[in-house]
Amino acid sequence: MEMEKNGHRAHCLVLTYPAQGHINPMMEFCKRLQHKGVKVTFVITNFISKTMHKEASSIALETISDGYDEGGLAQAESIYAYEESFRRVGSQTLTQLIEKLSSSSSPVDCVVYDSLLPWALDIAKSFGLLGAVFLTQSCAVDNIYYHVHKGALKLPLSETEILLPGSPPLQPQDLPSFISDFGSYPVYYDMLVGQFSNIDKADWVLVNTFYELEQEVVDWMAKILPLRTIGPTIPSMFLDNRIEDDKEYGLSIFKPNTDTCMKWLNDRPNGSVVYVSFGSMAALEVEQMAELAWGLRMSNSYFLWVVRASEEAKLPKNFVEETSEKGLVVRWCPQLEVLTHESVGCFVTHCGWNSTLEALSCGVPMVAVPQWTDQPTNAKYIMDFWKMGLKAPVDEKGLVSREAAEHCIKEIMEGERGKEIRKNALKWRKLAKEAVDEGGSSDKNIEEFVAKLVHS
Ligand code: UDP
Repeated sequence: MEMEKNGHRAHCLVLTYPAQGHINPMMEFCKRLQHKGVKVTFVITNFISKTMHKEASSIALETISDGYDEGGLAQAESIYAYEESFRRVGSQTLTQLIEKLSSSSSPVDCVVYDSLLPWALDIAKSFGLLGAVFLTQSCAVDNIYYHVHKGALKLPLSETEILLPGSPPLQPQDLPSFISDFGSYPVYYDMLVGQFSNIDKADWVLVNTFYELEQEVVDWMAKILPLRTIGPTIPSMFLDNRIEDDKEYGLSIFKPNTDTCMKWLNDRPNGSVVYVSFGSMAALEVEQMAELAWGLRMSNSYFLWVVRASEEAKLPKNFVEETSEKGLVVRWCPQLEVLTHESVGCFVTHCGWNSTLEALSCGVPMVAVPQWTDQPTNAKYIMDFWKMGLKAPVDEKGLVSREAAEHCIKEIMEGERGKEIRKNALKWRKLAKEAVDEGGSSDKNIEEFVAKLVHS
């Protein structure tokens, strides 16, 4: 089925921020749109295009420049300089790309842009195109930043209980770190609050979540903005299995150690492995790394731990050798394959939003060890509202001790609470699948988006 618009196939440009946690959900959204008959072009930066590991994919790729074609963010003098350059050079090169495509047989009708790149909406509007902003964090987190943007939540925080419409009462430490620890990362703070700077001009606000997971806050925000939930944006094979060959996201910043991981998991008993990962960005303190390492060892479970190359030096000396009977440490893994492997019984995670949605979609209970940004909020929801994991308590230094890590892992792997948590995780898995399956809440929203794209 092809979706026609003005004599050509309706065409969406989908522009992502160059980070794994943004590329994955936006790439997957491309596949959902393409499956519904829309032509899609995924736009990444030149640097990412040159360095990424690309798996075979049916999605067309184009590039723009962030001004740092040889090294991306790592090449920039500061995050601030990078963001400035991305806005300036990105605007120019996105304009050139839209011009190039407009003289082709498939001109662009709509720009779906990452909420961290609000300037893309100005470009879309300068061409008279539709603009859809894509929010890659939870709706609960979006709601918090929205209130900061509106001045309804004043910073630095002075209250001990945060009460926002659409949200259950939260404590300051449950808020995103850029808010609770105001001033810690001013550039990121500006970027996240800046997501809402021109949001009222966007034709759609797409959020990578699903209605059943965040009903109250979605209902509230949808009163103010043209907001639609379209997630979880996870390869179809792990949910509804309606998109052929959609087994992986398709673009990886790091090369996964697939064979080593899967062979190792195949040799472990069902539900016996603790999978540990802190995503693509978080940098742990050396002491935290050591506490976790000893906690894992004390739990006496098997463990598969993703330690990125840049983090490796922080592992305690000889840890890998001394625990080789029980554990495997790799630099990157195919996370979804790991989470769905029957040997995996628990996920110790930073609670990045993608990892959270993936664990939920695979029905894997979590031990939340949030580090920064939206992770503390995700951890709060995981433990207290979705009840599909435990948040590891922190000591006065803000670290999870080895005893706390061991205790949480044992609770999930062997304890009574673990049984309840596992049951809830399976409930969420079912609801996530239903949301994206035919006629589900996210599926209907995507259909509506496509219909309006074609007819507006
Ligand atoms: N991921 C992966 N292999 C790993 C660790 C992570 O493929 O070894 C993927 C994971 O499946 C997720 C993404 O990287 O889709 C991380 O996104 P998330 O939002 O959880 O964390 P971030 O990296 O943005 O902090």
